[in-house]
Amino acid sequence: MHVFTERDLTTTLDSSTRVCVVGYGSQGRAHALNLRDSGVDVVLGLRPGGASARQASAEGWSPRPIAEAVQGASIVMILLPDTAQPAVFREAIAPHLEPGALLMFAHGFNVHYGQIDAPAGVDVALVAPKSPGAMVRREYTRGCGVPCLMAVHRDATGSARARTLAYAHAIGGTRAGVLETSFAEETETDLFGEQAVLCGGVTELVTKGFETLVEAGYQPEIAYFECLHELKLIVDLMHEGGLAKVHQFVSETAIYGDLSRGPRIVDAGAKARMKEVLEEVQTGAFAREWLVENQVGKPSYRRMLARDLEHPIEAVGRSLRARMTWLEEGPGDADQEDRS
Ligand code: NDP
Ligand code: MG
Ligand code: MG
Repeated sequence: MHVFTERDLTTTLDSSTRVCVVGYGSQGRAHALNLRDSGVDVVLGLRPGGASARQASAEGWSPRPIAEAVQGASIVMILLPDTAQPAVFREAIAPHLEPGALLMFAHGFNVHYGQIDAPAGVDVALVAPKSPGAMVRREYTRGCGVPCLMAVHRDATGSARARTLAYAHAIGGTRAGVLETSFAEETETDLFGEQAVLCGGVTELVTKGFETLVEAGYQPEIAYFECLHELKLIVDLMHEGGLAKVHQFVSETAIYGDLSRGPRIVDAGAKARMKEVLEEVQTGAFAREWLVENQVGKPSYRRMLARDLEHPIEAVGRSLRARMTWLEEGPGDADQEDRS
């Protein structure tokens, strides 16, 4: 697979390119600041009176109402929560898009599942940084960047791909490498990853492991360290050097336990259920369920969230972390919440 870098650029964005960034949350703030520092003409579209409008003004921006900010922009990047995008798009964005404009997203959900359909003559693409907004900003200011995915859904002008790569470049993406994908692949793999592995899988693995030890009579504090606290060490090793680096740094006993017991925990049954979850993503069943849940005010979301936060591992964790004051200075703390 080709990894796009600065060498692949056929055009760049500069002060003659007006980019409207809609939203100033996790991704919005990072994109707007990076684009500005790359010399792009950035205009922020925010709802007046919101927390973001206040923050952006305090940070030196002159945000405009979204409908106004979209007018005259050649690129419009929508960085609102995915569930908020369709209504804002219909009311404040679609009617004001310039012909030939490039409409952009950082996640393919709404386009892929048919919630947003851009007017004819408008290019549609995505640039999805593979990290939370705070890291997109931090890496850029260090002269680095985070890896990004790019995809073109519609090329009405013939320049969609070149402009999309130029956008990824302007937020720092080409320094780390840009991979090309499709809206379907980005959306489906992103949802599957967060459901089966990154969020759903890991938190269940941790809490079930904790429960197993506590139910067997071990102290909750000890169980917390074994099943949650030490996870960071392993994840960092994996992140830096894959499975080989994990094996390099843990004991031989740990490796033998891993190789002989791991496959019994996450077994063929778990993989079969992963396939079911993937199918719900592919058929759109998950998207429909989540859209309906939003329409009715998220009652089951709230109920499940409350149950998660009431888990005993949370109380134990809070009291143990209160003693580990250095944790508050860790890099995770400067980050805004990652809702990737
Ligand atoms: P946020 O939740 O941080 O977005 C918050 C922003 O949206 C604020 O500016 C807020 O304004 C505004 N907003 C919320 N609701 C509305 C509304 N109804 N009308 C107008 N403005 C509204 O979003 P993220 O940055 O997390 O996500 C943006 C996009 O990036 C999504 O598509 C997401 O999937 C994608 N993405 C996110 C990643 C992440 O790490 N967070 C990683 C990669 C992609 P106000 O202050 O006025 O409420
Ligand atoms: Mg969970
Ligand atoms: Mg996601």
